[in-house]
Amino acid sequence: MTRIDKYGLDRMLRKDVAISFRCPHCEGARLEMNRPEQLDPLEGIQCFKCKSVIVLDSLSVAVIQEGGRRPAPKPSPRPKVRPSEG
Ligand SMILES: [Zn+2]
Repeated sequence: MTRIDKYGLDRMLRKDVAISFRCPHCEGARLEMNRPEQLDPLEGIQCFKCKSVIVLDSLSVAVIQEGGRRPAPKPSPRPKVRPSEG
Protein backbone atom coordinates (compact mmCIF):
# COMPACT_ATOMS: atom_id res chain seq x y z
CA MET A 1 0.00 0.00 0.00
CA THR A 2 1.29 3.43 -0.90
CA ARG A 3 1.86 5.73 2.02
CA ILE A 4 2.19 9.49 1.62
CA ASP A 5 3.56 11.48 4.52
CA LYS A 6 3.46 15.26 4.31
CA TYR A 7 5.99 17.47 6.01
CA GLY A 8 4.97 21.08 6.45
CA LEU A 9 7.14 24.01 7.43
CA ASP A 10 7.12 23.22 11.14
CA ARG A 11 8.39 19.70 10.61
CA MET A 12 10.87 20.64 7.88
CA LEU A 13 12.62 23.26 9.98
CA ARG A 14 14.19 20.48 12.02
CA LYS A 15 15.47 18.67 8.92
CA ASP A 16 18.54 20.71 8.06
CA VAL A 17 16.82 22.67 5.27
CA ALA A 18 18.98 24.76 2.94
CA ILE A 19 17.44 26.94 0.23
CA SER A 20 19.20 29.01 -2.41
CA PHE A 21 17.48 31.39 -4.83
CA ARG A 22 17.75 34.74 -6.54
CA CYS A 23 16.19 37.64 -4.71
CA PRO A 24 12.54 37.71 -5.81
CA HIS A 25 12.56 41.51 -5.73
CA CYS A 26 15.75 42.67 -7.46
CA GLU A 27 16.88 39.33 -8.92
CA GLY A 28 20.38 40.69 -8.63
CA ALA A 29 21.62 38.66 -5.71
CA ARG A 30 21.72 34.99 -4.87
CA LEU A 31 20.46 34.45 -1.36
CA GLU A 32 20.87 31.42 0.85
CA MET A 33 18.75 30.35 3.75
CA ASN A 34 20.42 27.60 5.69
CA ARG A 35 20.80 28.73 9.27
CA PRO A 36 17.93 28.20 11.73
CA GLU A 37 17.44 31.95 12.28
CA GLN A 38 17.27 32.56 8.52
CA LEU A 39 14.60 29.90 8.14
CA ASP A 40 12.59 31.31 11.04
CA PRO A 41 9.38 32.85 9.61
CA LEU A 42 9.82 35.71 12.07
CA GLU A 43 13.41 36.46 11.12
CA GLY A 44 14.24 35.73 7.51
CA ILE A 45 17.14 37.23 5.61
CA GLN A 46 17.89 40.60 4.11
CA CYS A 47 18.94 40.95 0.49
CA PHE A 48 22.38 42.54 0.55
CA LYS A 49 21.63 44.32 -2.71
CA CYS A 50 18.14 45.82 -2.46
CA LYS A 51 17.76 45.47 1.33
CA SER A 52 14.43 43.66 1.06
CA VAL A 53 13.67 41.30 3.89
CA ILE A 54 12.65 37.83 2.73
CA VAL A 55 11.01 35.39 5.09
CA LEU A 56 10.13 31.75 4.60
CA ASP A 57 6.35 31.76 4.37
CA SER A 58 5.64 28.11 3.71
CA LEU A 59 7.35 24.90 2.75
CA SER A 60 6.08 21.41 2.29
CA VAL A 61 7.35 18.15 0.91
CA ALA A 62 5.71 14.76 0.54
CA VAL A 63 7.41 11.45 1.21
CA ILE A 64 6.05 8.56 -0.84
CA GLN A 65 6.61 4.99 0.26
CA GLU A 66 5.45 2.00 -1.74
CA GLY A 67 4.69 -0.66 0.83
CA GLY A 68 8.07 -0.15 2.49
CA ARG A 69 9.87 -1.68 -0.50
CA ARG A 70 11.16 -0.36 -3.75
CA PRO A 71 8.59 -0.52 -6.50
CA ALA A 72 8.89 -3.62 -8.67
CA PRO A 73 10.27 -3.09 -12.17
CA LYS A 74 7.68 -2.81 -14.88
CA PRO A 75 7.06 -6.10 -16.68
CA SER A 76 8.37 -6.10 -20.21
CA PRO A 77 5.61 -6.14 -22.79
CA ARG A 78 4.93 -9.64 -24.05
CA PRO A 79 4.87 -10.17 -27.79
CA LYS A 80 1.38 -10.69 -29.09
CA VAL A 81 0.68 -14.21 -30.18
CA ARG A 82 -1.58 -14.67 -33.15
CA PRO A 83 -4.03 -17.50 -32.94
CA SER A 84 -2.82 -20.31 -35.15
CA GLU A 85 -4.80 -20.84 -38.30
CA GLY A 86 -4.97 -24.55 -37.97
ZN1 LIG B 1 17.20 42.03 -3.71
